[in-house]
Amino acid sequence: MRSKIVAGNWKMNNSAKESKKLVKQIQNNITNLTLENTRVIVAPSFVYLQKVAKKTKGSPIEVAAQNMNQAAKGAFTGEISAEMLKSIHIDTVILGHSERREYYGETDAILAEKVKAALANNLEIIFCFGEVLEDRKSGKHFEVVKSQITNALFDLSAEDWSNIVLAYEPVWAIGTGETASPDQAQEMHAFIRDLVAQKYTQHLAENVSILYGGSVKPSNAEEIFSKADVDGGLIGGASLNAEDFTAIIKAI
Ligand code: PEP
Repeated sequence: MRSKIVAGNWKMNNSAKESKKLVKQIQNNITNLTLENTRVIVAPSFVYLQKVAKKTKGSPIEVAAQNMNQAAKGAFTGEISAEMLKSIHIDTVILGHSERREYYGETDAILAEKVKAALANNLEIIFCFGEVLEDRKSGKHFEVVKSQITNALFDLSAEDWSNIVLAYEPVWAIGTGETASPDQAQEMHAFIRDLVAQKYTQHLAENVSILYGGSVKPSNAEEIFSKADVDGGLIGGASLNAEDFTAIIKAI
């Protein structure tokens, strides 16, 4: 059975003190919740991964990295490898976020390499993809999403997919306050699940968690999460506020 997941991407926000405070607040808020088949993940900046992981030890909160380099090691100043993440006991990494694609030139080809490097180190991947507004307006959103998934993920083995979580994030809805309607999210998620089923098997596709990301807030989370193929959310802005993030977790 696929898991439900609420993951908070903190991006380049929070000091060390703020990061510790935020995770502690979330932890306090969720201690008495029954999180049946639901995972809660936070992705702080690289520099706080160990601190936050230490704080969350023994709690239901998991810690993920926001990115990693595709190379195993070498002269890549400022970069972090999959092996480095594993060496500090980080088991999950976000790859393909639209900000990485847009500001750091991460193409499907680069992402395919990152995916392979992460899997080779037994990291779970939250793989993000989604169309820009122009694609949606011109009706190309299904085609764009299909090619992003195909190019980066469709030469993986069926076994590899046990470490893949998909995150559909329409770029026009990220940090804009504009959200895909629950029906738009469901339509795309069902399309994605069908795509995976056609390439692999229905059984495999039914076991892949597909998250929605893009201006999810306490006020819209419940309706989005109520859709059959939406298995949770990747949350940006609202994950920086413990009360909002908790309300989103409760909405699942
Ligand atoms: C994100 O960046 O992954 C995201 C979904 O951001 P926001 O929730 O702020 O739109």
